[in-house]
Order: sequence, then structure tokens, then C-alpha cells
Amino acid sequence: MDILNRSILFGGKAIVSALDITDTARRAREIHGFSVAAARAFGKALTLAAFMSAGFKDLGNKLTVILDGDGAGGRMVFAGREGAKVRGYMEHPDCLAERPDAKVSEVVGKDGTLAVIKDFGLKEPYNGYSRLVNGSIDADFAFYFTQSEQLPSAVATGVKFDGDGGIAAAGGVIVQPMPGCTDEILVMLEDIVRDFTDMDERIAAYTPQQIIDDRFGHFEKSDLAPVYPAYECDCSRERVAAAIKLLGNAEAESMICEAGKIEVGCDFCGKKYIFDADDVRKIFG
Ligand SMILES: [Zn+2]
Repeated sequence: MDILNRSILFGGKAIVSALDITDTARRAREIHGFSVAAARAFGKALTLAAFMSAGFKDLGNKLTVILDGDGAGGRMVFAGREGAKVRGYMEHPDCLAERPDAKVSEVVGKDGTLAVIKDFGLKEPYNGYSRLVNGSIDADFAFYFTQSEQLPSAVATGVKFDGDGGIAAAGGVIVQPMPGCTDEILVMLEDIVRDFTDMDERIAAYTPQQIIDDRFGHFEKSDLAPVYPAYECDCSRERVAAAIKLLGNAEAESMICEAGKIEVGCDFCGKKYIFDADDVRKIFG
């Protein structure tokens, strides 16, 4: 089972999070049929989407992350909600299939943007935005946290593959400052995370708690309750019906005339919803 462990360091001056999202990344690949290169980039960003939505407490809070670079994978979209329940898709899931060792930045691209929308059910959602640094995902998100959320962060994520190209492990470590954090503490923590160049190997060999205990255990530390990330889509026939209603009766009728039905596929989970003439009449009835 996937898990996210978090520990407060130095009596509340910083927080370290470590995630194992292996099952979540496998589920995403099962749905989307990612190439190895695509699965690597997607799994790294999915780790960060799970991390970002883990802090959501209330039902209905929604995270959207759009990684839009000029790489072979095209646009990646992630959505999350409380408890690190995430989903996502990529424009070109089979990109670089002939090159399993392609760099993450070849999938993501080096030029582009990272946009984050956090909807807390208030009038205006929070919108954050930054330019990509180098398409490595770790540096791009670290820069986003620093610039857009004013949280200078250290990020290391990784996806490990077995000999057959299957996902053996996926996850990562994120360190963020909390109020009262000094530059000294931050530099020390960043140095530790900078050491995690082998995050793919590390997440395959150790549990998130072991990674935290091993590298951060000698600091004053208190562990928080774990969170259990999972790939979950909350699409439903009712939601698709509501979307059809927004199209308006005339537009819906003309689609029925043309194709005899309205077929809507969910980008996140691949589920197909089909509405025939009767169904459409009921929506507008
Ligand atoms: Zn769905």
C-alpha cells in the first residue's frame, strides 16, 4: 500500500515528507499505457501532486497541477483531493517509447510553465504559476514552491523500473520550511536532499519512514500520522450529465442527430459514458 510519512523537525521549524506511490504510479500506467520514459516523468510529478494534496483537510478541496512544457510528452495534468487521492493524464503517453533511458527533461521539455490551482471552496481559488527551470521536475517544482508559495523547498523524486520495464518503485522526499525556520537549518536540510540523487534506488530499497529516520532521525523530530495516497477518479455519469446540460439543449440534440449518441470519455481514468436520445431528453426534461 502506498504511504506518505511526514515529520516535523526542529520543534516546528521544518517539515520533511517522504512518499511511496508505487501502486498509484502503476495504476496510472495501467490506465494510460505510458512508455518507460513517460512513466518516469509522470510518476515523479504524480509524487508531487500527491504530496501537495495530502495537506488538504476538507472534502471538496481540489488541486490541479498543469505541467505544460515543450517536451515529447506534451501537457501533463494532475488533479488531487484530500488524503493524497490523485489522478492525471499526459498528452502523449507513448512518447519516446523506443528510448526507455530518455531524460525526464526530454519528456517534459525545458521551456514551459507549471501552473497550480488550489480550490478551497472559497470565492477565488489560489492560482500559482512559474516557468520551468530545466524540465527535470524536481527543480521545476522546487522553484515553483520557492517563487510562488514563498516556501524554499528541496525536492527529490524518482521512479525505478525492473528489468522488464515495469515500475518497481516510485516516490520521493520533500523538505519545506515552517515559520521560524532559519537559513542555517534550511541549507542543512537542502544538503541532505541534494544527496538523494539516487531517489529511484532509495525508494525501492527503503520505506518512506526508514528514509526519514535514516537521514533526519538525528534531528529533533516528531512524526505525524501517515496519509495513504491512491489513484482515484471521481468522475460519474451524473457529472457528465451536468456537463451535457451546460452544452444546452440545441447543441446536445444536434450531437444526437449526427452520431445517434453522445459519448464522453474521462481523460483521467478512461471510463466511457454514453448517452442516447432518451438519456439526453431526460437531462433536459
Ligand atoms: Zn474518470
